Amino acid sequence: MISGVRMVLLGRQGAGKGTQCVRLARHYVVPHISTGDMLRAAVKRGTELGRRAKAIMDAGDLVPDELIVRVVDERLHQGGTTRRGYVLDGFPRTVAQAEALAEITAAQPLHVVVDLEVPTEVVVERIASRRTCADCGAIYSTAAPPKYGWHCDNCGGEVIQRDDDTEEAILHRLDLYERETAPLIAWYAERGLAVEVDGIGTADEVSTRLYAVVDERVAAASTPG
Ligand code: AMP
Repeated sequence: MISGVRMVLLGRQGAGKGTQCVRLARHYVVPHISTGDMLRAAVKRGTELGRRAKAIMDAGDLVPDELIVRVVDERLHQGGTTRRGYVLDGFPRTVAQAEALAEITAAQPLHVVVDLEVPTEVVVERIASRRTCADCGAIYSTAAPPKYGWHCDNCGGEVIQRDDDTEEAILHRLDLYERETAPLIAWYAERGLAVEVDGIGTADEVSTRLYAVVDERVAAASTPG
């Protein structure tokens, strides 16, 4: 088994990033670091960060780069994470964030940046039917709900529609993705790090494709010369 991958998963909201990041983190035995989950936890706890982020998140806007970079920098320095590995989900979202990440990880650079490709029409439909556990973040849909009522199969938490999963906020977030985040793929491609993976299919099919790409990149990075 290969462990210790350092990777970023990019993709439109609703491309299946959250689901695949959980699987990747288990498979490679590294933490799943989701900036969206970290911010939602801060909102729930009512911390200073949460208070600053709440209105921005509800509107589907991006929180300021320096704020989110500080959060990620701190997290990546806990328990030697920059060295042991991680799956980054929802970060970076702008070229400025990618530049900051390159500095934070200069000693142990990323192995790969995967762009999980799912067309816009498909993701709009997926997000509108998405339901999320308010406690652990597990993802369901109106077509595949939890087994018992709207209580999470994993932790029993309440399964709800996210405040920013309204149609208006979704369209705004997708627009921001095209403007701010899509250029990142070109930025990483110039650095030889970007790989596109087809995000259409069952979760198992997509995971198999992801593992193949990641294994190849990690093996290439550990081969001398
Ligand atoms: P997500 O769960 O990744 O869709 O993130 C939910 C919301 O959190 C986003 O719509 C942004 O408001 C905020 N957010 C998460 N990650 C970032 C980031 N890297 N930069 C700026 N805002 C972010």
